[in-house]
Amino acid sequence: MSDTTPIQHFIRTIIDGDLASGKHRTITTRFPPEPNGYLHIGHAKSICLNFGLAQDYQGACNLRFDDTNPEKESEEYALAIQDDVHWLGFQWSGPVHWASDYFQSLYDYAEELIKLGKAFVCDLTPEAMREYRGTLTEKGRNSPYRDRSVDENLDLFRRMKAGEFPDGSKTLRARIDMASPNINLRDPVIYRIKRAHHIRTGDAWCIYPMYDYTHCISDALEKISHSLCTLEFEDHRPLYDWVLDQLPVPSHPQQIEFSRLELHYTVTSKRKLLQLVTQGHVAGWDDPRMPTLHGMRRRGYTPEGIREFARRIGISKSENIVDMAVLEGAIREDLETKAPRAMAVVNPLKVVLSNYQDGVTGSRLAGFHPQHPEFGEREVSISREIWIEQDDFSEDPPPGWRRLKPGGEARLRYSYVVKCDEAVKDADGKVVELRCSIDHDTLGQNPVGRKVKGVIHWLSASHALAAEIRLYDCLFTDPEPDGHKDRDFLEFFNPNSLMVVQGWVEPALKDAAPEAHYQFERIGYFCADRFDHRPGERLVFNRTVTLKDTWNKGHG
Ligand code: ATP
Ligand code: MG
Repeated sequence: MSDTTPIQHFIRTIIDGDLASGKHRTITTRFPPEPNGYLHIGHAKSICLNFGLAQDYQGACNLRFDDTNPEKESEEYALAIQDDVHWLGFQWSGPVHWASDYFQSLYDYAEELIKLGKAFVCDLTPEAMREYRGTLTEKGRNSPYRDRSVDENLDLFRRMKAGEFPDGSKTLRARIDMASPNINLRDPVIYRIKRAHHIRTGDAWCIYPMYDYTHCISDALEKISHSLCTLEFEDHRPLYDWVLDQLPVPSHPQQIEFSRLELHYTVTSKRKLLQLVTQGHVAGWDDPRMPTLHGMRRRGYTPEGIREFARRIGISKSENIVDMAVLEGAIREDLETKAPRAMAVVNPLKVVLSNYQDGVTGSRLAGFHPQHPEFGEREVSISREIWIEQDDFSEDPPPGWRRLKPGGEARLRYSYVVKCDEAVKDADGKVVELRCSIDHDTLGQNPVGRKVKGVIHWLSASHALAAEIRLYDCLFTDPEPDGHKDRDFLEFFNPNSLMVVQGWVEPALKDAAPEAHYQFERIGYFCADRFDHRPGERLVFNRTVTLKDTWNKGHG
């Protein structure tokens, strides 16, 4: 598909400068997810950036789990995340790293800070601490425990670790500056007491280090050259640097912030995605409507398409919300070259071909892809009864209509030109069947003396296979579901985001493998469901994306 030349951006410019000046000889990045949920499209941006830079500059990229919140983290999430990174096409350098691998070092460094007079044990309750912290416009006040002696702090911190104090009763705080205009520097908590079972360290620890303290030291221990994170961490950078400046760590990585990816009509917050799952609004983290990588995979999005999307949106510091059309466009372009063509009928209308003659009326071979003869071909069989799409017939069509209408003609794709002789209606006047006649001289050739412009897709009723077809619409009815101050994002949940219909597909799809992609001609790109589709038994196809961009029409 499109070219894969990296697009220059400010982070690449910084790296180019660091390599040119000799500050670094090679680069090392890391992707640091917290195993507290499945990855979403926003994480894909960060994965493509971190792993992509490592590839381009022949450096390394670590996968490091930021596992410092034991209550919210699980093995299931950690495994799903590794799966996603591989699926997107990346491999981390060396083994998987865990922040918990560094718990002992982090603890030792904390004792170091205490000995330097740069950390103290504080007994303030969370409420009192908040009060002492001050506000954006008001300085904070020193904790009454701030001037404890080094010996007392060491003794208390060791006893915190030994489990002598109840959860939440004490914290270890960095001793920086309660008057700092940057609230992150107002003696931030770096350790808390929490008796929680940890997925890796079990019950070995009852004190856990905070993210800001853990992250910079983990980066330093792994000798990360460029620590890339999203803009909300910009105000945390002074703390990142402060911690590393106090301690004899082996390196001092440079933190660089870039803007988060936000997408219209969906949410990219693990907390909100978790809510959709736990409250049953969707079928799970891998529901194809979810912006998770597991959901997108199940829907039929390709890793190549997602990587191309990430390349196109680029990297910058400006906040912006990307249109779903950009993502869908990248997926569509990738599938265009990859997906075999086939016919399917989603809303069937029966057509009886009144002059069909067994043995006289013939079938044709059709290629699976117009540009890829190597995809092979299949026979498109015809019989007396066929299915067409309901909306390919109109009794009273608008001007310019090229599909079937009473007395009108259209070509059946890969087959004959047919003429609609009669529309059969039920008691309510609804058209339930068409009677058409074949022009027997039009198989593979144009009719003589007239032009038939319309081509419609269809299936032989006696050959077609029943299939469950899942059609998706956007998950929310509002472009920014979480952008309303006094309204909950769930109020904008789209109840029509999933529509399941019983349709028909070509017999050639009988043994389609789970996750196989197809273009159903004139309808869209579809993918055999990864889990519910069983070749030869139960056919289930998910609509990945429509053939044309629909975002400018139905969605405002
Ligand atoms: P969430 O807000 O969804 O919980 P998070 O930042 O807490 O996301 P992490 O697991 O900590 O989730 O994220 C791992 C990495 O992915 C971090 O470096 C983070 O900055 C990056 N990341 C998360 N969300 C986005 C996003 N929307 N766009 C770009 N990068 C993101
Ligand atoms: Mg985070």
